[in-house]
Amino acid sequence: MSTYDTNNIFAKILRGEIPSHKVYEDDATVAFMDVMPQAEGHVLVLPKTPSRNILDADAATLPSLIGTVQKIAIAAKEAFDADGVTIMQFNEAPAGQSVYHLHFHVIPRREGIPLKP
Ligand code: 5GP
Repeated sequence: MSTYDTNNIFAKILRGEIPSHKVYEDDATVAFMDVMPQAEGHVLVLPKTPSRNILDADAATLPSLIGTVQKIAIAAKEAFDADGVTIMQFNEAPAGQSVYHLHFHVIPRREGIPLKP
């Protein structure tokens, strides 16, 4: 069974053990810049509570999380003068997850510019 690893990189960021470029924080959520952005302004949005991904998340954490995703999407679109915003979220390795603390990708998009792989 898949469980939450308290030593995943985002858990360490949440504990302040490794640095991040934080752009937003409230009681329930945090947002920081992705170290390997797929486009300019790529932000990651996390709940502070320890969920591996959406499959094991406590439903009570989701409203605040999606609320922060929306705030960041609006702010990032404005800040990076984007034409649109891609929001992505992956669950387990076959689906593309590589860090096992629930997170959403919020990526400002410009017309004609594809995401970096
Ligand atoms: P996933 O594939 O799990 O949805 O995405 C994990 C994301 O975390 C990737 O986009 C990757 O670039 C990002 N990432 C991995 N390690 C770090 C880190 O130490 N700091 C930050 N800010 N982002 C990270």
